[in-house]
Amino acid sequence: MESTHYHPLECEAADCQGVALTGAKHCWKHLPDKQAYINALDPATLEGAWLAGADLRGVDWAGANLADARISKAQLDEANLAGANLERAFLDEASLRHVNLQDARLGLAVFGGADLSGANLRGADLKRANLVGATADKADFTSADLYYSRPGNGSFQSACFADANLQRAIFRRADLAEADLRGASGRGNFEDANLRGVKQ
Ligand SMILES: [Zn+2]
Repeated sequence: MESTHYHPLECEAADCQGVALTGAKHCWKHLPDKQAYINALDPATLEGAWLAGADLRGVDWAGANLADARISKAQLDEANLAGANLERAFLDEASLRHVNLQDARLGLAVFGGADLSGANLRGADLKRANLVGATADKADFTSADLYYSRPGNGSFQSACFADANLQRAIFRRADLAEADLRGASGRGNFEDANLRGVKQ
């Protein structure tokens, strides 16, 4: 790897202030052959990788190691990240519609402003994850562990939290209209949350 987020390199394109992607000389915008770059990535070795802004829609990266990776503003719609390790990864403002994160390790990951609509997060470990302002309408958090997570100001309309652990989860001002909380355990903070039509 030529760069990790600990020692990020600047994009070589003239006048670009962006950071070069891991293993490349350019940021996503200036990367000459984007598909070849994606094909050459080994998802088992992307710990700390810089993939901000990349179009990774539909990649099959089940079990990938993306701990501490910088994936902000990337597109991961329909990607398979089941069982992946994304602990402490930055996924803020990423598009993760219908992504498969079943049983993924997401402790301390940052999803601020991300779009997780329709995502599969069944059994995922979201302990202390930052979901502030995230959109996760119709997402499936069944049996997920949201201990001390921060879903405040997020949108979770018709999302499913059945049998999830919500101990100390901070849903302040979140929109949980029609969400399914049946069997969820723990005491979350639902101050000023919209709980219209919640099933519990
Ligand atoms: Zn650039």
